[in-house]
Amino acid sequence: SIALKRITKDFAKKRVLDDVSLQVENGEFVAILGPSGCGKTTMLRLIAGFEQMNSGTIHFNDEIIASPEKNLPPEKRNVGIVFQNYALWPHMNVEQNVGYALKIAGVSSDERRRRSLDALATVAMENFAGRAPADLSGGQRQRVALARCLAANPSVMLLDEPLANLDVHLRASMEREFSDFHRRTRATMIYITHDQSEAMALADRIAVMDGGRVMQFARPHELYREPRNEMVARFIGNGL
Ligand code: ATP
Repeated sequence: SIALKRITKDFAKKRVLDDVSLQVENGEFVAILGPSGCGKTTMLRLIAGFEQMNSGTIHFNDEIIASPEKNLPPEKRNVGIVFQNYALWPHMNVEQNVGYALKIAGVSSDERRRRSLDALATVAMENFAGRAPADLSGGQRQRVALARCLAANPSVMLLDEPLANLDVHLRASMEREFSDFHRRTRATMIYITHDQSEAMALADRIAVMDGGRVMQFARPHELYREPRNEMVARFIGNGL
């Protein structure tokens, strides 16, 4: 499991995460849902290892990987990351970007090519394999970043609004891809969105956040039937 225990995080004098606890089980698909500025991205950056907390601990399978005194570096956490500002490497073409982690892992070039093109096909980008990232639109780059994550086949995926820049048709087909990918691999997925219907459609459980706190963490139908407070009711209701 991935467990956050009593995490607080301040930027300057502002408390961005306020006593957040959350436990995600292995293989679970969890959506983090909440309004802009509620602390979603900060929470994911902490799990990835890009930020350090002021207090609290993060545990991967019962081992403490982060605390105010300790920070296991991101590359040692074995997580796949799709963040909005987590750029592609500009000096590599699309296929090389997608295959790079496999190359580091010692996968043969034939196998790498096959897996890279498979992952690119998943995001409908197989015809762009030879292109440079600079020649792609923002949405296309986002799809390549997603393919890079899928190709590496990580056991944990951290996704910050991975479909935000895509048009409505592509969004719908990518949502299906996420479901399929999750069913196939049973990877643990933590998926930020501010789209209620996307969270309801994809997630096993949803953490609803507001003002740096987790308001409720429950299955979609529980949030819908038994919202713990007004904020959750309004936020979930708006998506239906
Ligand atoms: P959005 O949906 O708009 O991306 P979010 O829920 O992901 O929002 P965060 O990006 O985690 O929210 O930001 C939470 C708060 O922390 C915001 O008020 C933001 O301005 C502040 N913040 C985030 N990063 C920093 C930083 N590096 N320095 C100072 N303040 C920051």
